Amino acid sequence: MQFKDVISSDKVVKLLLKEVKSDRVSHAQMLLGPEGAAKLPLAVAFSQYLLCDNPSTKDSCGECPNCQKVSSLTHPDLHFVYPVVISKTDHVSSSDDVRAEWNDILTKQKYFNVDSWLDKLDNAGKNPIIGVEESRQIMKKLSLKAYGDKYKIMIIWLPERMNAQAANKMLKLLEEPPEKTIFLLVCDNAEAILPTIISRTQIINVPAADNNQIAKFIKKKYGVDQSIAESVSALSQGNIVEAINAVQGDKAHHAYFELFVKLMRSAYAANPNDLIAVSEEVAAMDKEKQKNFVKYGLHIFRESMIMNYMNDQLLNLRNEEKAFLQKFAKFINNQNISELIEEFNLAYYHLERNANSKILFTDLVIKLTKLVRKGV
Ligand SMILES: [Zn+2]
Repeated sequence: MQFKDVISSDKVVKLLLKEVKSDRVSHAQMLLGPEGAAKLPLAVAFSQYLLCDNPSTKDSCGECPNCQKVSSLTHPDLHFVYPVVISKTDHVSSSDDVRAEWNDILTKQKYFNVDSWLDKLDNAGKNPIIGVEESRQIMKKLSLKAYGDKYKIMIIWLPERMNAQAANKMLKLLEEPPEKTIFLLVCDNAEAILPTIISRTQIINVPAADNNQIAKFIKKKYGVDQSIAESVSALSQGNIVEAINAVQGDKAHHAYFELFVKLMRSAYAANPNDLIAVSEEVAAMDKEKQKNFVKYGLHIFRESMIMNYMNDQLLNLRNEEKAFLQKFAKFINNQNISELIEEFNLAYYHLERNANSKILFTDLVIKLTKLVRKGV
């Protein structure tokens, strides 16, 4: 990861480059800024710059073996510490236990927050921490001889999630730093960190990203129209993670819509092959998406009823949905609405209890063929 690939202010990059130029790279630095600012990618780009064999005055070369190892997150002198959900049953006690997931999210998504990280770990809603086993691992890694002749770098994402024991050990490390070692603390909320830790780090304030930069990034990475990229970035107020979530949510929504249309068309036509195909398609999604899809169906049924019996101004639909419902809504009426809602609610209930989705959706589409015809 090079500086040029990171959405961040030139000011911050200049500050980091100046440290190197004047040979005053502080051994403990804290990149501090709001959630959704590019602090973590900046820390990685800075590490790459520090480890690069051929850095220019502005950026790492991106091509030398050191740069390549940093880019693939396999450089032996670049260590990562991040909060994890500690679990005996899952055998997770420190960062290394979920390193594959970490490398995946950091290389593919690059910008993420705790929630996206927990989703990645299949641990939504849990409380991730940096615990005492992590401090042992840190000591162990720092006691190893460096692989190259430059620095050993330890990036600590969200040090505010260290528990008291880990924080005390960290403090000792910062008081007596091992030679040629650089700690880069990447922090959203400095108030949650021991003041004694903060006083031993050099703070680098990373501001929220600029809307235009976010729009450019969203357009390029997700291939959406300029207008969508602009509206998403305006709403995100400089939070890159939120902009990504919004554009991904939009894509997911569209996928549910297409699947729902397919489902209803095949239910109406009552073609057994189509019905099996579409139920298999739904069952092939992961559980969370299956549940979202069922919720989406309930939403469309409700909107159909509003379109049929109430004021159009109450509708909460996107353009493609509105166009579809103009023809479809008439099939959803007092003849079948309560049964449709009941069946979808029941499907949701069973999905939450880990029912076999293949059987569940096959059963549901068969019921749908009858229920849709009831409304004709
Ligand atoms: Zn290089």
